[in-house]
Amino acid sequence: KIYYDADANLDVLKDKVILFLGFGNQGAAQAQNLRDSGIPNEKIIVANRPDHYAEDAKSRGFNVDHDFANAAKTADVVFLLIPDQVQPRVFNNEVAPNLKDNAVIVVASGYNVFYKLLKFKPSQDVVMVAPRMIGSSVRSLYEKGKGFPCFVSVEQDGTGKALESALALSRAIGATKAGAIASSAREETAMDLFAEQALWPNIIMLFREAFSVLKEAGCSDEALCYEMWMSKEPAEIFERAAEEGFIQQLKHHSTVSQYGQLNGALALDGSAAREHFKHILNNQVGIRAYVDDDLADPRNPQVLNGKFCQEFSKIEDDLEKEGDANPLNVLYTKSEASELGQAEKRVRARLAGLL
Ligand code: NDP
Repeated sequence: KIYYDADANLDVLKDKVILFLGFGNQGAAQAQNLRDSGIPNEKIIVANRPDHYAEDAKSRGFNVDHDFANAAKTADVVFLLIPDQVQPRVFNNEVAPNLKDNAVIVVASGYNVFYKLLKFKPSQDVVMVAPRMIGSSVRSLYEKGKGFPCFVSVEQDGTGKALESALALSRAIGATKAGAIASSAREETAMDLFAEQALWPNIIMLFREAFSVLKEAGCSDEALCYEMWMSKEPAEIFERAAEEGFIQQLKHHSTVSQYGQLNGALALDGSAAREHFKHILNNQVGIRAYVDDDLADPRNPQVLNGKFCQEFSKIEDDLEKEGDANPLNVLYTKSEASELGQAEKRVRARLAGLL
């Protein structure tokens, strides 16, 4: 199902106080879009700690409250637009205890809802309005009168009117203009984590290994960096794939290239990759295919607590640390130590003025 502007009624939001928790990538874009859709400024509150994000919101004329608990008390709708890893701590401790019993909580990512890391009252509505677009584009496309891809779902219908609210809010931020796709926190989380933990790691690995093999064959670092990504050819290929079709874009390539790519891809046996991908989805992400038995079995590990969620929750606090105490920094150091990483550093230093 795809929802358009005509499916949404903005009157549902009349007199509602709408709170934006966070004024970062998504918060700043969505709050401005919502206001430009006709929601009165006095009905919008931005909650943010006193820093440059708060100053940015103030400079754009928003009412800013530095006290999350206080802001939550008057809100009918809360957009949860702070980073996913801090949402449980901030929402459960400061916001949830002060929210109205019939509040609508809006998430822009399914992760915390799917893994049941946020505490909601059964009487509240929980909806997902998840743009598939970075915040600056959410804003610039709205300003151009265009829509952007977005997933929408009702995760908890406490009031019986959650869908109505979800669609009105989607329309207000500009998400139904090009069509908002009915989805779920489960689907959104599965696809997001799968891309992050299965698809892109394999792509990074393929580039890393391809680089080493070609370097061993005598190709220069400079030529390799440009050939493989710095020319932006791969970016262009993906742009064409989005516009014309994943396979059809190949027609822009030379005949030799088309033959090589199509023939090569068909000749590759994908079964090992398929098993590897299933393993990551089932065990690491913790999402198995829907089976009737799964849904009936209360012990079913189906959805909850994939290994990744458990492991990530153990390191979340360390992500704010400096140096090697931050596991993300360690991963960067290790990744940059690869042949590809080292070569790129040299090439970038050498071509600094040209890039
Ligand atoms: P940002 O990283 O841009 O969020 C920054 C905001 O969060 C600032 O207002 C910041 O204020 C606040 N914040 C950060 N840490 C804390 C904290 N510990 N306590 C309170 N406030 C904090 O987030 P995004 O906009 O990228 O993401 C928001 C949501 O949108 C997430 O659920 C994300 O998955 C989703 N999303 C993001 C997309 C994107 O393109 N970025 C795309 C689609 C969905 P301060 O530091 O001053 O406290």
